[in-house]
Amino acid sequence: MRFVKSFLTLLAILAISLTARPKIVIGIVIDQMRFDYLYRFQPNFGPDGFNRLMNHGLNFTFAHYNYVPTHTAPGHSSIYTGSTPYFHGIIGNDWYSKELKRRIYCVDDSRFEGIGCSDKMSPLNLMSTTITDQLKLSDNGLSKVIAVSLKDRGAILPGGRLANAAYWYNDANGHFGTSSYYMKELPNWVTNFNSKNLASKYCEKEWTLSFPLQNYSICLPDENPNELDVYKEGRTSFPHSLKNIKPENRFEMIRELPFGNDLLTDFVKDLVINESLGKGEQTDFLSVSFSATDYVGHLYGPNSVEIFDLYTKLDQNIAELLHVFDHEYGAGNYLVFLTADHAGNEIPEMVNTKVKSNFNTKNCLNAVKKYAKEQFGVDGIVADYINKQFFLDDAVIEAQHLNPVEVRAKIAAFLRRTFNSILIVCTKDDFNGKIAARESNNPLLNGYNNIRSGDILIELNSTTYFESTGNKSTHNTLYSYDTHVPLIFFGWNITPGKNNESVYVTDIAPTIADLLNITEPSGCIGRPIIK
Ligand SMILES: [Zn+2]
Repeated sequence: MRFVKSFLTLLAILAISLTARPKIVIGIVIDQMRFDYLYRFQPNFGPDGFNRLMNHGLNFTFAHYNYVPTHTAPGHSSIYTGSTPYFHGIIGNDWYSKELKRRIYCVDDSRFEGIGCSDKMSPLNLMSTTITDQLKLSDNGLSKVIAVSLKDRGAILPGGRLANAAYWYNDANGHFGTSSYYMKELPNWVTNFNSKNLASKYCEKEWTLSFPLQNYSICLPDENPNELDVYKEGRTSFPHSLKNIKPENRFEMIRELPFGNDLLTDFVKDLVINESLGKGEQTDFLSVSFSATDYVGHLYGPNSVEIFDLYTKLDQNIAELLHVFDHEYGAGNYLVFLTADHAGNEIPEMVNTKVKSNFNTKNCLNAVKKYAKEQFGVDGIVADYINKQFFLDDAVIEAQHLNPVEVRAKIAAFLRRTFNSILIVCTKDDFNGKIAARESNNPLLNGYNNIRSGDILIELNSTTYFESTGNKSTHNTLYSYDTHVPLIFFGWNITPGKNNESVYVTDIAPTIADLLNITEPSGCIGRPIIK
């Protein structure tokens, strides 16, 4: 009887401590994080960061992007809309606008002013609501939504149309700023944070390894003639600092150091306290996107000592944030998901060890332009080439009384017969009447937007790399090295475990919606994956 009584008391305590809804949902996106990093870099991880999420969360080990282009802006948009570029419209970080006859940036919007920065930006190019929007819509805006990143697009897109604020890092002064889309002036706490000038302090610091060099033995040699001397030190090995970098460029280069992640962590800690996030009646939402991982990935690649040490230090940032959340909300009262906006390729030379297999984009573009001129008797048919898409000039085609379907088909046929490392060539006509779907077997269709995408799309075979990749890492293919990312849910209502069924990044938003009993985003094509 005594046992039953104490058991009932225990149940009561559990019921009280586990709230009916999470106090806050926290989305953590790690820019360019490959799935395998969770395991390759694990020997350097402590118990409280990635390991805590993996051991006490639900770890989906076979989560993929189900479209190409695998870039930062589409990735963040897809995570938060549960959709793909077909519906959310973010087809790249930049794309060519046929209407404006120039390239545009995904979050540029001249109708707004920069607040604490000069960027005129908004989320309005998004053609879908986000999970953060849906939370706001569910309670008439009482929930607070705040999104932060070093990258403007890494903050603005997750926040959706209805965020209270999106903050991002400003290279000009090392401060965090926002847009008049959200507010007229920065809150006091952001101004106070900026006045600490932490970026200046980080610029003075030296990047040293967290462990002895032998702890990084799975990497290529630290001193490596194929690596870039990013910091102008006359060597490529540790330690690194910004001493030899012109002072006016140092704030920008913080992005390429672990200090970029440290600075964002500092900002999030101030934000959580000063905004009283997760302290109201409603569930709030915090979106955090770490970007230094992408910059260092591009500069050094996935086999460098630099990327391994960057993740070793990011593990500490994650541990620190979880500690803050435990303190503020109580363990189990907040819901976290961690994923990436895309992954990244191996260093091409490590795959093609005997014979290089590179693709020269410039040669290809010139050949297509030459062919188009010879075939159709006019210059300027190809208006632009970006993100592996050819954008044709419809006005030129019409003025020549050409059949646009035929023009596209002929250029596509030329690409097929001329370049044997191009595996797939599609024209927009191939997608007529077809609609993106979660299980679509065509990642190009899922990534294709009827209004914004180009006329002809190409994909190389999976072992040929664009020459511009060099000895580094990049992304934007439909292959596993770019699409396979971590996906872990942790905290409120999550039963720990490991799951290797095939799931997609588009499933994150509907899973959160399902857990919160709210409607999924308007363009959502995913489904809940937590039973
Ligand atoms: Zn990148």
